Amino acid sequence: MPRITVARTSADATVAVDRIACDGRGLCAALLPERIGLDEWGYPVVDPRPLDRGTALEAVRICPVRALYLREEAAAPDARAKAASSGR
Ligand code: SF4
Repeated sequence: MPRITVARTSADATVAVDRIACDGRGLCAALLPERIGLDEWGYPVVDPRPLDRGTALEAVRICPVRALYLREEAAAPDARAKAASSGR
């Protein structure tokens, strides 16, 4: 089975599922098993940790009903606090 090609980018994103649109056939989980599992009904459970944007976009692209979508990650709160305290 083909795997998702990982294109490295500097920006992180997370993948989310529109559970109404999803038909639960699990293609995304088959192609990205390290980040997407299936619940007891066969619907995807997405690891909420950020992944590189290229991988996230590939996951979104393979969904046949466009139920996966991208969430851009904001900088982590502690990273924002460090940047603010350093004057950046
Ligand atoms: S590929 Fe799309 S339709 Fe299929 S299980 Fe994943 S989110 Fe649902």
